[in-house]
Amino acid sequence: MRLSAFPPNFVPTRAIRSISLLMSTTPTDTDRQHDTRPVLDVLRRLNIAHGTDADLASLTWYKVGGRADVLAHPTNAEQLCELVACCAAHGVSLRVLGSGANLLVGDQGVPGLVVRFDAGALAGVEVRDNGTVVAAAGFDLMRLVSLTAGKGLDGLQGLAGVPASVGGAVRMNAGGRYCDTGQTITRVRVVSSDGRLHDLPRRDIEFAYRHTSIAADAIVVEAEFALQHGDSDVLRKRVLEIMGDKKASQPLGAKSAGCTWKNPTPPRRYLSDDAPRPADGDPHGWPAGMLVDRAGLKNFAVGGARISDRHANFIACDPHATATDVLSVMRHAEQVVLERFGVTLQREVVVWCAG
Ligand SMILES: Cc1cc2nc3c(=O)[nH]c(=O)nc-3n(C[C@H](O)[C@H](O)[C@H](O)COP(=O)(O)OP(=O)(O)OC[C@H]3O[C@@H](n4cnc5c(N)ncnc54)[C@H](O)[C@@H]3O)c2cc1C
Repeated sequence: MRLSAFPPNFVPTRAIRSISLLMSTTPTDTDRQHDTRPVLDVLRRLNIAHGTDADLASLTWYKVGGRADVLAHPTNAEQLCELVACCAAHGVSLRVLGSGANLLVGDQGVPGLVVRFDAGALAGVEVRDNGTVVAAAGFDLMRLVSLTAGKGLDGLQGLAGVPASVGGAVRMNAGGRYCDTGQTITRVRVVSSDGRLHDLPRRDIEFAYRHTSIAADAIVVEAEFALQHGDSDVLRKRVLEIMGDKKASQPLGAKSAGCTWKNPTPPRRYLSDDAPRPADGDPHGWPAGMLVDRAGLKNFAVGGARISDRHANFIACDPHATATDVLSVMRHAEQVVLERFGVTLQREVVVWCAG
């Protein structure tokens, strides 16, 4: 990864390819997507740290995949708004990378701009006396869980052991058996695809099983949580118990992105009382990991990617794995489960492919 101290006439590799295409032919939409020069101009003008042809694999939990044309680290919402507006005006694709704990980056990498919030106002947190916590999108969720438990604030301890940035946790409505991210949220601040800031009150946001109604192209910059005052010793103990539960059932040390697929039927608490449920014995009611396990796929491997024998919903990578290996394992398992049980597995893991 080259850092932002470019020589004055420096032009990144992929941009060179785009420029020669632009000079010789009429540009297609794809060519325009690769032309990141206007974005680089904004990054330099606003003095935002960035690199070109930047490695993404090391920023994901799978540790596989390609590079980004440009990776930038804006530090406040105003900078982000300008970048978003510039990308919109010039047809440059823009993606947000959180902690990379639910993300597979394709081996070809991704065109355009990737933003990551790891410094300044986009990575901070404020804890108020009344139990309100305002966390920026880049703040680490596990740090938020231990910080709030330590301060005797009750409400986030059920998210112990979920690796995420706050923004990624809001986007995925991350959670599990004990609670999910949306449960204690009172407001989310986003940047919309035209580069404007909006505050969304809780009543305007739907949180469902690994889903939120926040527009898919909106970028979360901050979330406000309303927590209750409690006993910090009890809360800290609960965090450790939940971590222990997760360690006992999941391969947390593996290079993975947690659960690969959503359960075909959401857990009961996400459904209304009268929502239809699969009958006993109907595979549509089984957890995704059970379907993969009963299809005999534990330990199924392609190259360096393997279905975990601890938890069949996890795909673990060895140091030689590629994103193509992971995708091959995913596709094979999806096909076998469909053929065996008639169930179409939906991916929980987000896949970024070029284009
Ligand atoms: C070992 C392990 C255990 C896990 N256990 C759980 C679990 O118990 N429960 C659970 O729900 N998940 C679990 N996961 C998955 C992961 O923790 C969650 O999906 C988490 O929400 C991912 O957050 P992230 O910041 O890493 O997002 P990323 O993986 O970086 O990104 C995921 C998606 O969110 C988008 N995104 C990220 N930040 C923003 C933002 N600021 N604004 C808009 N979009 C954004 C990305 O563009 C991408 O589409 C686990 C993963 C691992 C590796």
